[in-house]
Amino acid sequence: MSEPSDAEELAALTTTLKRHLERRQRAGLRYLPKASPASPKPATPSEIPNFMSGTELDLLGETHAAVQAESLEVLRAAIGDCQRCKLCSGRTNIVFGVGNPHAKLMFVGEGPGRDEDLQGEPFVGRAGQLLTDIITKGMGLKRDDVYICNVVKCRPPENRNPEPDEVAACEPFLKRQIDIIRPEIIVGLGKFAVQTLLNSKVPISKLRGIWASYHGIKLMPTFHPAYLLRNPADKKLVWEDIKQVIKVMRSDNA
Ligand code: URA
Repeated sequence: MSEPSDAEELAALTTTLKRHLERRQRAGLRYLPKASPASPKPATPSEIPNFMSGTELDLLGETHAAVQAESLEVLRAAIGDCQRCKLCSGRTNIVFGVGNPHAKLMFVGEGPGRDEDLQGEPFVGRAGQLLTDIITKGMGLKRDDVYICNVVKCRPPENRNPEPDEVAACEPFLKRQIDIIRPEIIVGLGKFAVQTLLNSKVPISKLRGIWASYHGIKLMPTFHPAYLLRNPADKKLVWEDIKQVIKVMRSDNA
C-alpha cells in the first residue's frame, strides 16, 4: 500500500479533529484548552492522537471524580488544568482557595481579580487587604485559621460578574469544598456569593446581617470588601455582621 500523501493525511486529521470537537460539544464542553505556558511548542503529529484520545466520558468523568474527592488536595488535583468554561482562556492561575482545611469559619467571595489571578491566592489585592484586616484586627484570628475561596476559581475578564454558565461549571467545586471543610459558619461576601449560595435573587442590602442557612451551615451574608472600598461609610454595617459571627463562634466554643 502506498504512503498517504500530505493532503490525504491532513484531510484525515481534519476529520478526526472535527469528530473530536463534535464529541466535546455534545458533552457540553465548548472551549479548547489554551496553550500551556509549560509546553509552548506546537504538538507534533505523533502527539496529536494523544490529545485527541479523550472521550466525552473522560471529560465528564473528571467533574464526577472531582465532586467525589475526600480531601481538598484530591479535589484540587481533580480540577486539574480546568477547561470546563470560557474563563480558562484568560486566566493565569486557578485560584482554588486558601487556609485551614478544618476551619470553623469560611469566607466565600465572588471570583479572583487581577492580583489573585497573578498570585493564585484569593483576596490578596486591595479588597483582600480589607478582608485580612477584618479577620485579623476585627476578629483576632489569623488568615490561616479560616478558609477563604470564591464561587468561581478563574478571573472573569475586566472583573465582570461571572456568567451563569461559568458559575454552573464551577459551583460543584465550591459545594465540594464546603462539604469537605464543613465549617460552622460561612460568611458570604457580597451579592454574587450570597445569591449563589442561597440560590436567591434577593438584593444583598436586604439579606445582609440576617442569619441564613446553607445546607444546615449558618450563613452570614455581608457586603463585599470591594464594595466597602467604594462605600467606606458602610463598614460599620459589616462590623455589625462580623460581631454577630464572633458572638456565635464564642458561644459554640463555650
Ligand atoms: N474579590 C473576590 O470576590 N474574590 C477575590 O479573591 C478577590 C476579590
